[in-house]
Amino acid sequence: MNDRTCIMEEKDKEYIWHPFTQMREWVADTPLIIESGKGSYLIDTQGRRYIDGFSSVWVNIHGHRKKAIDKAITEQLKRIAHSTLLGLSNIPSILLAEKLIRVAHNSGLFSLSKVFYSDNGSTAVEAGLKMAFQYWQLKGGRYREKTKFLTLENAYHGDTIGSVSLGGIDLFHKLYKPLLFETIKVPSPNCYRCPIDKNHPDCNLACIREAEKVLKRHHHETAAFVIEPLIQAAAGMIVSPPGYLSQISSLCKQYNVLLIADEVATGFGRTGRMFACEHEDVTPDIMAIAKGITGGYLPLAATLVTEDIYNAFLGEYKEFKTFFHGHSYTGNPLGCAAAIANIDIFEKENVLHHVRVKSSLLEKLLRQLKDHPHVGDIRQKGLMAGIELVKDKSSKAPYPLEDKAGYRVCLEARNMGLILRPIGNVIILIPPLNISSAILKKMVAIIAAAIETVTGNGFQQ
Ligand SMILES: *Cc1c(COP(=O)(O)O)cnc(C)c1O
Repeated sequence: MNDRTCIMEEKDKEYIWHPFTQMREWVADTPLIIESGKGSYLIDTQGRRYIDGFSSVWVNIHGHRKKAIDKAITEQLKRIAHSTLLGLSNIPSILLAEKLIRVAHNSGLFSLSKVFYSDNGSTAVEAGLKMAFQYWQLKGGRYREKTKFLTLENAYHGDTIGSVSLGGIDLFHKLYKPLLFETIKVPSPNCYRCPIDKNHPDCNLACIREAEKVLKRHHHETAAFVIEPLIQAAAGMIVSPPGYLSQISSLCKQYNVLLIADEVATGFGRTGRMFACEHEDVTPDIMAIAKGITGGYLPLAATLVTEDIYNAFLGEYKEFKTFFHGHSYTGNPLGCAAAIANIDIFEKENVLHHVRVKSSLLEKLLRQLKDHPHVGDIRQKGLMAGIELVKDKSSKAPYPLEDKAGYRVCLEARNMGLILRPIGNVIILIPPLNISSAILKKMVAIIAAAIETVTGNGFQQ
């Protein structure tokens, strides 16, 4: 190990508290310190190269050091790094807002017409939920009763208190319960572990009937249904069955409940369309986007809303209908410049076509893992995929969390030059969208070998 790596490792352990990390284990381990990146690769302080199999936590889109984005940021840097949207405006945020609405319209999301900026996925969701709440308050009368939110079991919408309230992953969320507002839960459309014990497709989407029961009972007090469209990603890439999203959307319309689509993970091409909602011709009332918006370069997020929502907030100043919400770095010009370049690349390089080609290749590659005795389920939409490891395939019995099966597979993969981050027993694959066929093949080969190594020794059958 070179000297600098040693020094950095020491300082890391001295000063940093890592997110979602048991720090006692961290300090006992040898951390990987990333120094640079190029295309689909990350390079550490010792010059070792790794495939970035999780797009640097689901954000990277066109690979690292993408020329056009590098250039957009450096050009913007010559003008100004940051100015705010609180009382002022700036050029990149104006041009990006126009572009985002145009992109939304090109995706069939015709009624989205206004852009509210923030700087990460959690805040984009928080802004959306406050907007939905305030919308009904401003409508007045009996609508003021509409104060609650419907969410899916196993939902994940971020780590701030509002978005944690919407969440349904016990490991992350349960402890904080006394701090959270209550939400009304709808069964997760989880076909591998169906919460209502049905089998898809024979079930005829029985989970929709469950959702309808909840809406029927609670619509009068419900502001919005918050959903991760098509994929509950942080729950372990739970892909909802075809038709689920569009039927939820219809029910929301029928029962006069707003639909908030959290496209933080799915947005910007991951599923093979620009936005996941597009697959089922669904237009939400509010849409949160973040992760991929800057191509994975800078923290930026946006909450897109319909004209109807926006209009409800209009009035004389003294009516105090204003949306009193905003973050210091709102509309950050560097982030917006990166986002504009990101979207331009989608158009210039036909990225969505590439994603569709690569996702059918990925599907083919993953099929080879299906019969492995410890692979319970493989779920995929576009270039988002999850491989669920099980202790027992026929009973679907999971490995106990403390066995850290997913973690051990990812550690093994890392030794073979691939960086992944698991969610429990699910191995998550989210490569950069422009990954080459050769690297994709290598990635799946490494995963197969890592699963074999881990499940073959140390785990009981
Ligand atoms: C990652 C994620 C968030 C939170 O985004 P942050 O930028 O990490 O705050 C919210 N919703 C979904 C669906 C996500 O995947």
